[in-house]
Amino acid sequence: MSEPLVEVKNLKVRFDVREGIIKAVDGATFTVHYGQTLGVIGESGCGKSVTARAILNMVPKPGKVVGGEILYHRRRPSENGSEVTEIVNILDLDPDGEEIRQIRGGEIAMIFQEPMSSLTPVYTAGAHITEAVTLHRLLPIRKVGDQMAETIQAHRRVSKQEAKEIAIEMLRRVGIPNPRERVDAYPHQLSGGQRQRVMIAIALSCQPDMLIADEPTTALDVSIEAQILDLMRELQEETNMAIMFITHNLGVVAEMAQEIVVMYLGNIVERASVVDIFYNPKHPYTRALLESIPRFGKGRRQRLTSIKGMVPDPFHLPSGCLFHPRCPHFMPGKCDRIEPKWTQVGDNHWVRCLLYEKE
Ligand code: SF4
Repeated sequence: MSEPLVEVKNLKVRFDVREGIIKAVDGATFTVHYGQTLGVIGESGCGKSVTARAILNMVPKPGKVVGGEILYHRRRPSENGSEVTEIVNILDLDPDGEEIRQIRGGEIAMIFQEPMSSLTPVYTAGAHITEAVTLHRLLPIRKVGDQMAETIQAHRRVSKQEAKEIAIEMLRRVGIPNPRERVDAYPHQLSGGQRQRVMIAIALSCQPDMLIADEPTTALDVSIEAQILDLMRELQEETNMAIMFITHNLGVVAEMAQEIVVMYLGNIVERASVVDIFYNPKHPYTRALLESIPRFGKGRRQRLTSIKGMVPDPFHLPSGCLFHPRCPHFMPGKCDRIEPKWTQVGDNHWVRCLLYEKE
């Protein structure tokens, strides 16, 4: 295993709203390594995206990090020209300060699902530009090439002309036709898929140490998706970039990731290598997720099953194991009373389920 880049330790994020408190992330612990891809899977609302935003110290209000650490192993050039690693707890940084702004976008980049940020009356144009530069969002009112060049210059020491050339090259690599002309287009002149590709190009053009990709290819057709995934892998090989790949598409994550964490209702319930998750899943929730997708080689008549029941109301979480109302292996009097702890079930394979806990 390569060196750690980000260690998330016992992260807890709460949303205090009128109806009560939502435990959006409740004790998440995992590590992202240089040059590796970590897949994060789970149903919508399980806390994947909130975890990703916490890594950039930008949990949206009224969300609040109430516990844990996010240790960033930051590589920097030393005075004698060699490289030193300093460990920064991202949660200790001022969320609006200069240091986190350098990290966001430049060192840890994030690709969102939705590329267009709409202008809101409470933001000045300058604030929109700052947000776009740090978070890789597209502004509708400015040429994509200018937005790309600005972001590149904010994080890399290059001239305006060099930044434009990098932008054109990245547009070419994400498959935008006629990139030399399209660099002068406005976002509304591009299709939704093209805007998504521009956003990916912006994130990758800063050569980040880590890329957080939150459902990055959901809006793209499969051939473009394959091209983007290839590009991410190429850049990972070139620059040793780490990727945190958040998705509900298990096929994509199987192709991209070496390690996977499975989230359910703000909790990580299983973590293991991609091979163990797909060929030897332990947690009943992981198994149910896998049974709900078609498997290669099982023929056209394979039966797919949906996960029983509904995701519980976040204001009234079940006692004991959070998955117990939906679990086919539910043990009455046990699973509804005892909160499962982590159990090691193999090399680097961990699960939170009472089926594996010794009495
Ligand atoms: Fe199912 Fe019980 Fe395991 Fe929870 S602890 S996943 S309810 S068997």
